[in-house]
Amino acid sequence: MEEKRLQERLRRAVVLIVAAGLLLLAAGEGVAAFLARSMVEVTKDQMRAETDEYKNRLEKQMSSDYQILTTMSGFLEFSNVDEAENFDEILNEANLRNDFVSMAYFPLNGSGVVAVLGQPVRSDVELAEMQPEVQEVVAQAWQGEMALSDLVQSELTQEKIFIYAIPVSRNGDTVGALIASDQVEIFSDILSGDTVLSGNGHIHLLNSKGELLIHSQNSVVEESVASIYEEPYFSGQKAEEIRTALAAGESVYSSFHCEGRSYQALLEPVGIKDWYMLCVSRVQEASGLYRIVTVIAVTFAALLLLMVILLVYGYRLTRRNDRELRDLAFHDALTGGDNLRGFTLKLQEALSQRQDVNLAALDVRQFKFINEIFGRERADKLLRHIHQQLQARLEEGEFCCRDSADLFYAVLLNTDPEQAAARLRNIMDEACAAALQDANSDYHVLLYAGMVAAPQCAASGKVDDVLTHAMFALERAKGASCNSVWTYDTELHKKEEVANFVESHMHQALQNGEFRMYLQPKIDLTSGRLGGAEALVRWTTGTGRMLYPDQFIPLFEQNGFSVSLDLYMVECACKQLRAWLDQGIQPVPLSVNQSKLLFFEADYIQNLERLIERYQIPASWITLEILEGLALENAGELNSRISQLQAIGFRISMDDFGSGYSSLNTLNSLQIDELKLDRGFLMEAADKNDPRSRIIMEQVVRMAKQLGISVVVEGVETRENEALIQSLGCDFGQGYYYSRPITVEEFTARYWGEPKEAPHGPAL
Ligand code: C2E
Ligand code: CA
Ligand code: CA
Repeated sequence: MEEKRLQERLRRAVVLIVAAGLLLLAAGEGVAAFLARSMVEVTKDQMRAETDEYKNRLEKQMSSDYQILTTMSGFLEFSNVDEAENFDEILNEANLRNDFVSMAYFPLNGSGVVAVLGQPVRSDVELAEMQPEVQEVVAQAWQGEMALSDLVQSELTQEKIFIYAIPVSRNGDTVGALIASDQVEIFSDILSGDTVLSGNGHIHLLNSKGELLIHSQNSVVEESVASIYEEPYFSGQKAEEIRTALAAGESVYSSFHCEGRSYQALLEPVGIKDWYMLCVSRVQEASGLYRIVTVIAVTFAALLLLMVILLVYGYRLTRRNDRELRDLAFHDALTGGDNLRGFTLKLQEALSQRQDVNLAALDVRQFKFINEIFGRERADKLLRHIHQQLQARLEEGEFCCRDSADLFYAVLLNTDPEQAAARLRNIMDEACAAALQDANSDYHVLLYAGMVAAPQCAASGKVDDVLTHAMFALERAKGASCNSVWTYDTELHKKEEVANFVESHMHQALQNGEFRMYLQPKIDLTSGRLGGAEALVRWTTGTGRMLYPDQFIPLFEQNGFSVSLDLYMVECACKQLRAWLDQGIQPVPLSVNQSKLLFFEADYIQNLERLIERYQIPASWITLEILEGLALENAGELNSRISQLQAIGFRISMDDFGSGYSSLNTLNSLQIDELKLDRGFLMEAADKNDPRSRIIMEQVVRMAKQLGISVVVEGVETRENEALIQSLGCDFGQGYYYSRPITVEEFTARYWGEPKEAPHGPAL
């Protein structure tokens, strides 16, 4: 039960912690994802801003370059300067002023002027001598278009340049091409590149095929590649996606890994030709935000781990505690075996499943003495030893335990109680012999046992009852003298139970009026009419159960309560006589049984006198039945008592004559008024095979008659009985033949007509 509760609690804790853990994890994930996304956005924005910056500068430079060329071309259109003698001077001057790397003018005839910074101006330069890129743009300009070359390595300056060309027209016709080459300012930055993203990035210039045009020397990754489709950049599926995006002129945000680190890459079209800028960043990794996200992720993971560890630790701890508690709860620390709780669990199971369970309770005789003389340590050793010995001798399915002190229980399996008891006796003998050897002393340990046999165990089936029965049998065994086994007896136990009840409830019962007077008639054998009645007590308990005198009178005689009860019965009789008189009934004498204790009470006679006075009853209507045994001890004192009572008027009857030490002498020595022959007397006399008893009875009756004592015969059960006692000359008959003891109400109705209101017990 407790274990179940514990497991349920554990299960709930696990669910709670797992739920909390998952929640925490989800929250952590959420925060981390949010931060990561924010970070990506921030990085992307930074990279875009950086790329835009370079793009703007490039655009600005180009448009200003174009502006200059366009102005010059206009000037040429209207002034015909190109045909002037000093045109080369003018061109050189313009080149110097505008900071181009070189300028040139090629009329349609292909023989032009070339001015290069830091070099003398050359005239009559044939276009065909120029590098192909120059020829290309010039050809385009001659077609009337503005043209721009790819980046080229200048043959003249060895610098990376690009070349612009614009047409010069006159009167609507193109007459030549004005060209200028310029270094791209940003390229130097790209080349040195350490300012990109505060040193945490680099920018390369490439075309839409992915071929690198300008390569930063300060790239943040280790590389010397010709294309972005080479290591460490993009490969596989990613490369394909990027290739498609670049062909479509779209910008791409992606990432790649290099030497275990992650980099972000932004590919932005420049807007000039098919150029792209590749911006690479490691900002994300280097930024505080990235570290925060990492820290958060690690913290959450650590927390989760901690929770799991705590959970496992808690679980183990509870399991261990539980086990220890269970050990404590079901084990006996002294013997290491089961304790009573552990034992009863097994017993419960055995009782519910089998019919051959015999339960024995064993105890060590004089254990207190062993404890005191040999000391606690040795006594404990002995207990351990007995437990071991018992355990060793049990067979499969059998078990035992020590309850407390020197009380042991054992279950033996056998359907035959005799065999079970014999085996138990054997086990006890062996265990005692072994204990003696082991203790190495002369003291002979003795065990005694109470056993509840298999049929009783099976009939009861309840652990508590069976244990109580075993203890009951053990108590009985305690009274026996040597190693003995007492088997539980249901009848005996019931008697003991009643005895316990009687002793603990008698006082209250007397106050509550639970003792009632029943009456059994005495019939006059000559007239056949009612000659008197005997008052017999009945106890109706609070629960309505009827107890008979045999169940409590012997106990009352032992504990002295019969003094109170008998006097109470005398009062009941007086009260009843008074009631009959008051009802106009002429009553018959009532006989009341008097115990020996009462008879010798100091104030006995005064008490009786008080009663007859209180109810105004003649003493002669009360017959006091005493037992023959009273005469054995002190006949003289008894006689004086009898005389005193007779002087008042009471009649004295000798009860149960012939049941015990009866002797005819008693008749002689005691001054009694009535002799009640015991039922046994009649039974024997009625036996036709034994005429002697009849002769003795005849003699007794004759002698009584001679002494003037009236004779009552008890136990008249048949017509033959009646005929017999009549023939013997007895005066009264009492027995079931006439009536069983009945209530006062019934008695009154039977002998005096309609039942009249009968009095209850006297108020005490
Ligand atoms: P007892 O005084 O010998 O009473 C007669 C007993 O024999 C009664 O038993 C009665 O019911 C029984 N009896 C009567 N006729 C027959 C019969 O034909 N056959 C058989 N087999 N039995 C018969 P009861 O009432 O159970 O009383 C038992 C004994 O308890 C009495 O024996 C008496 O000694 C004692 N007792 C009863 N009431 C009192 C009382 O108030 N005070 C004292 N001290 N003892 C009492
Ligand atoms: Ca009697
Ligand atoms: Ca009797």
